[in-house]
Parts: sequence; C-alpha cells; structure tokens
Amino acid sequence: MSLEGSYDPENIFAKIIAGEMPCVKVHEDDHVFCFMDLFPQSPGHTLVVPKEPVRNALDMSEDGLKEAIVRVQRIANAVKTALDPDGIVLTQFNGAPAGQTVFHVHFHIIPRYEGRPLGEHAGRQADVEELKVLAGKIKAAL
Ligand code: AMP
Repeated sequence: MSLEGSYDPENIFAKIIAGEMPCVKVHEDDHVFCFMDLFPQSPGHTLVVPKEPVRNALDMSEDGLKEAIVRVQRIANAVKTALDPDGIVLTQFNGAPAGQTVFHVHFHIIPRYEGRPLGEHAGRQADVEELKVLAGKIKAAL
C-alpha cells in the first residue's frame, strides 16, 4: 500500500490495541499502546503504536503526533536503562515502498549492540517467553 488509500480497521495492530490479538505488552495509556516486536531486528525491539486509527505518520493529527513522539522518547529511555544498548535506532515507515508492512501508524525502537548486525526487517519470530523477560525489564524502567 502506497501513501494513498484508506485505513483498514481490521489490521493486526488495531486488533492488538482492541485486545483481540495477543501481544507482549510494555505500556498503554490514552494515546499509545506499546509492545514487543514479534520479529525483532535486535533484542529489545519495541513498537510504540499510537491509538489514532490512521495508516501512517503523515495522516496523524498534530496533537496525536506530539503525544506519540514524547512517549517514543520516554520508552526509548526505558529501553536504554533496562537493556544498556550501545545505541538506539528510532524508525517509522510511511507506505510500502518505504518499508511499511503494517498499515497502522507505529514507531520502532531498536536497540543496537556493538558488533551485532541488525536482523532482517519482520524476519524471524522471537521466543515469546524471552520477549516477556525483556518487556518486564523495560516496564520496570518506565
Ligand atoms: P513496519 O514494517 O514498519 O510496518 O513494521 C511492522 C512491524 O511489526 C515489523 O517489525 C514486524 O516484525 C512487526 N509485527 C508484525 N506482526 C506483529 C505482531 N503480531 N506482533 C508484534 N509485532 C508484529
């Protein structure tokens, strides 16, 4: 899906926010839902999903975007405290040609560790028990 098109309320992240699909949750408030990426590119790969039902960041309201990006920073700092990575990548894709695969706006928080290459985007599924341990550490640092 390119930048044009309509929002599909049946997308996987909408279902996770609605509690209709499972996830390893880290945080939820009025503006965002945050959980571990099931196909992490690096241990601790976390997603911050605004609750606003739009496909990408370009479609967000200004207020919604402000509320979301502040939480991205807050949760990235919790990832830093919890996992002590050497660096953290923040990414956000708009449209399939840009790399977007789930068409509900979201931000990636990807910890990076010296000497460890980045895994494939949406590649191998993680062990859910391991994700729960990582989520617990991040939650404790929030
Ligand atoms: P993007 O390509 O930016 O749309 O990213 C979508 C991300 O969602 C990818 O990193 C996937 O690994 C991740 N993902 C897809 N399905 C799920 C799911 N059910 N639970 C958690 N993460 C998911």
